[in-house]
Amino acid sequence: MGQGTTMADDAAQIQRKPIDKDAIRERYRAERDKRLRTDGNDQYTRIAGLFDEYLEDPYTPVTPRAPKTDHVTFAFVGGGFAGLVTGARLKEAGINDVRIIEKGGDFGGTWYWNRYPGAQCDTASMIYMPLLEETGHMPSEKYAHAPEILQQCQRIGQHYGLYENALFHTVIEELSWDEARSVWVIRTNRGDNFTAKYIGLGTGPLNTPKLPGIPGIKDFKGHAFHTSRWDYDYTGGDPNGAPLDKLKDKRVAIIGTGATAVQVVPHLARAARALYVFQRTPSSIDVRDNRPIDPEWFASIATPGWQQRWLENFTQNQAGIGMAPEDLVQDGWTDLAKRIRNRILQLPADQRNPMGMLAAYEDADHEKMEEIRQRAEAVVRDAETAEKLKAWYRQLCKRPCFHDQYLQAFNEPAAHLIDTDGQGVERITEKGVVVKGVEYEVDCIVYASGFEVGTPLERRTGFDPRGRGGIKLSQYWADGMRTKHGMHVHNFPNAFLVQATQAANLISNYPHNLVDSARTISLIVSHAEATGAKEVEVSKQAEDDWVNLLLSGMGLMIGSPDCTPGYYNNEGRDPGPQARYFVGYPAGAVAFFNYIEGWRTSGAFEGVAFRKDA
Ligand code: NDP
Repeated sequence: MGQGTTMADDAAQIQRKPIDKDAIRERYRAERDKRLRTDGNDQYTRIAGLFDEYLEDPYTPVTPRAPKTDHVTFAFVGGGFAGLVTGARLKEAGINDVRIIEKGGDFGGTWYWNRYPGAQCDTASMIYMPLLEETGHMPSEKYAHAPEILQQCQRIGQHYGLYENALFHTVIEELSWDEARSVWVIRTNRGDNFTAKYIGLGTGPLNTPKLPGIPGIKDFKGHAFHTSRWDYDYTGGDPNGAPLDKLKDKRVAIIGTGATAVQVVPHLARAARALYVFQRTPSSIDVRDNRPIDPEWFASIATPGWQQRWLENFTQNQAGIGMAPEDLVQDGWTDLAKRIRNRILQLPADQRNPMGMLAAYEDADHEKMEEIRQRAEAVVRDAETAEKLKAWYRQLCKRPCFHDQYLQAFNEPAAHLIDTDGQGVERITEKGVVVKGVEYEVDCIVYASGFEVGTPLERRTGFDPRGRGGIKLSQYWADGMRTKHGMHVHNFPNAFLVQATQAANLISNYPHNLVDSARTISLIVSHAEATGAKEVEVSKQAEDDWVNLLLSGMGLMIGSPDCTPGYYNNEGRDPGPQARYFVGYPAGAVAFFNYIEGWRTSGAFEGVAFRKDA
């Protein structure tokens, strides 16, 4: 960490070939076109109702408990990073009765559910793992593996006393604002019926696993599961990386080649008798370059305020405009940003306009993607397989992946890439998986098919909060999402959304959005409590002004319709007029974090009313 080769060094080792921009653009269009389909999100199948057993919690037994009928100051829906960091900041501010309500059997959210072999963070641990400084934890690796991240969640829970009041294995059924009493009423599937003065919502963007709607999916007679509910009883091994020893006589199919599959495949390729990787669109696989963190080095940098400095440094390098400071993190995210910035700096003065900058961005992107494609060629011994593993789209069209064993896994004798030429798996039978008329008989199918995105929020969370006058959030947002700062919604007093959209929208390090929101919430709640306010609510005018400001920007730079389909661009379908509201602060993440720091520390909380006599 902080030493050794950099991304640029690695890239330089791959022989550069001249870039033919027109040919690349043409190839991108052709690859996108062959993947386009008319059914968009409808191509996927809801698991609930069809394969309920795929959604069960394989990790923790459900403990019986008495229903809650009390009152708490703050109830938070979701026990992942959002709930943990908000709970932590509230506790620090002296709000002691914080209750987190969580579907899983412990804290962790995505890291509770995703325990598949090889799971690790894609953004450097030093900035990805929240509250490292507060909890005194040094990450063991530049990119920590899932068990360590789950432990950090548990550590936060313990450090801040969040376990005492938490409700696990509990699903919200109703969340409604009681105008007469100025409280939120919360009912759950465990018979709870309690109230809270404030609520926070942090259900995460990717919380509902989905299956591909492949004909015959119910016919398969072998074993099957989704990666977010890994069945170690069947595969052997454990989340710490022990070999999946029960697969040595098994033929395994994995469907999907997204960020999850990229981490799983090396483990399956080493363990299974035969592994068939069914690919519809290849992921871009850049260098990972993971390594242990040296305690001496860590001690030298971990001076007070270090994590906030690192967070800001990464965001300035990755998402900032203009000159960036020294790059502390040095990873694939900052590498791409650096290349784009350098190209822009090299532009003659008369081309430093939006068109010139977009062209510079495209050039940097082509260069990066060529390197990534050449890496596949350099690593994978079978030339045909290498060719099929090449990604033909711009890097941010899909989630960029970073791995040093995924491409290598295709050199294992057991591993077979079954490329579907963009069409996907044709059919599933009792015995296996069919592509282009060929049936691959397998004992087990692992669905690495991702999570619902772009489906209605209430479908993913299972509840639809009701605000003033009983208005549902889905009704209020029928024409598009409306908030101030991505957090406050008019008609929904004392409620806080903890997420990135309509705020910093920093995708490359999602937890930064959350830890920053937690600070805002704790300052608002502290102010309300100190001044005896019963209700805190954004005015309609302030919300409208914020939304208008958002709409004045350039829109999203990722997931454009020109990209190959995926969840970043609504599976290649016109997302409708509502999509223009899924944006961030027009001046970017760095500017948002600066702006919001001023807003919340000024003491004025402009646009938000604090009412004592509601
Ligand atoms: P994705 O949605 O990214 O991938 C799903 C995969 O299933 C795609 O390869 C998709 O192909 C494929 N697929 C869907 N339908 C079919 C079909 N009919 N036939 C064949 N293949 C099919 O899900 P992931 O779980 O991989 O990742 C989801 C997100 O979770 C990531 O984008 C990332 O944000 C996050 N993540 C983060 C990690 C980290 O930070 N360490 C690790 C893992 C995930 P196609 O591409 O053609 O649609």
